[in-house]
Amino acid sequence: MEKLANFINGNFCQPKSKQYLDVFEPATGEVYSKVPNSNADDITTAFQAAKDAFPDWSELPIKARSQYLNNIADLLESRQSDFAHYESKDTGKPVSLAETVDIPRAIANFRFFAEYGPTFKFDSELNSTQSENKVLHAPLGVVGCISPWNLPLYLFTWKIAPAMIAGNTVLAKPSEITPYTAYKLGEICQDANLPDGVLNIIHGQGASVGDVLINHNGVKAISFTGGTATGKTIAQRTASSFKKLSLEMGGKNPAIIFSDCDYNKMLETVVRSSFSNQGQICLSSSRILIQSKIFDQFKSDFVQKASDLIVGDPEDRKSNLGAISFKKHFEKILSYIELAKKEGGNILCGGKAVNLNGRCKKGWFIEPTIIEGLDNNCKTNQEEIFGPVVSLIPFQGETDAIQMANESDYGLSATIWTENKERAARVSNQVEAGVIWVNCWLIRDLRTPFGGMKQSGVGREGGSEALRFFTEPKNICTSNA
Ligand code: NAD
Repeated sequence: MEKLANFINGNFCQPKSKQYLDVFEPATGEVYSKVPNSNADDITTAFQAAKDAFPDWSELPIKARSQYLNNIADLLESRQSDFAHYESKDTGKPVSLAETVDIPRAIANFRFFAEYGPTFKFDSELNSTQSENKVLHAPLGVVGCISPWNLPLYLFTWKIAPAMIAGNTVLAKPSEITPYTAYKLGEICQDANLPDGVLNIIHGQGASVGDVLINHNGVKAISFTGGTATGKTIAQRTASSFKKLSLEMGGKNPAIIFSDCDYNKMLETVVRSSFSNQGQICLSSSRILIQSKIFDQFKSDFVQKASDLIVGDPEDRKSNLGAISFKKHFEKILSYIELAKKEGGNILCGGKAVNLNGRCKKGWFIEPTIIEGLDNNCKTNQEEIFGPVVSLIPFQGETDAIQMANESDYGLSATIWTENKERAARVSNQVEAGVIWVNCWLIRDLRTPFGGMKQSGVGREGGSEALRFFTEPKNICTSNA
């Protein structure tokens, strides 16, 4: 069985404790590799490597750092197909999705920050008759990046690329549930001759090695993506150190569908925004708010489309949905379907685990599930399920649509479907979400701020927001007198 390794100071190494955790293939339910269960000793070694690498890396001209990122992107692109297969096996997502979304986006993250970094004003001047002011955005030093299991390489690289281009050195902890592509990225860094210690990848459990990472005095900032409960723990555990924090957390995203929308485009996109990656995307639509006039038509068409989706082996290119990424999560999603029934929900389609034959017979598959008849305030409609489960809720007009959209502790994203531009503008302004898509979903211009309001996030990623996060502004003021 393959044993993964930490990537520290440019080398692959075993965890100091020699302890490993099982990594499962969700499609088969079988253990297929072992990942280091690292501890404080591994963080100490990785921190020293990152600290030693910082002076040279931060002093390199940004064009040189940019070249390293481009080289990493090129090498990743040359192995795109292998990485898509690794990601699919590790997460249970269809390989076709990993090929078209996850790995291209990971490549784009490196390319984007390689190009964008040199355009960012790391130094600027603000002069007046009284004084000359230099404003510097200096790298922080050693920073920590912690990422989740649902879009493993996509989100891992979304953090490390801006951290590195800004001149920081990195301790990165991928999810212990889906560590494989982050592990393989170490090989790419070696092939790209990335200087030793610039990127260190330490595997293991959040509550143990993750906790050591966030509490390390020398780590200047933590960029975290994951669940809201974990984000709260990190905020509490680091409060007294005043560490810089960027927290990207959960969501319960509304799709708001007005009767004047482009119906076919909306229907096709809402199917994708509900069920892509088995609904395990923080930006997935989970509360589908539909104007009453078209509720029945939408319900019937949406149920038909969802029932046509093929749940199957992630390796099979015909599969629209693959497996749920781990057993506990599979059980959690099924328990939410039971809760929905108890709360009075009517299951319009799906609602059960899928039993496949052959190599996937012990895998964790769930049917696309659509529920109606639940109040917006019930638990099913308020708590993040993070699976292929959506709830249909009718509304009369703009005012109650906005009210329901905002009746949530979360505020990550929303989609609005209408051909009326004024209405789109009014609703977009009033919906409390960090990302609003009008007549589309998941289009990302990487220059734009990304993140959530309320319990969905603190801070923003992307473009200049990410570079500001990974630098510290300093004002050097010289009097003209
Ligand atoms: P999680 O919070 O369980 O874990 C995320 C990461 O944090 C993992 O690497 C984990 O090991 C680590 N971790 C856990 N406990 C820790 C601790 N005490 N200290 C330090 N690190 C710790 O989240 P998950 O289950 O991996 O991911 C799913 C969640 O992520 C969902 O809620 C989803 O909405 C959210 N998510 C948000 C975004 C976004 O951009 N807002 C994107 C993707 C996923």
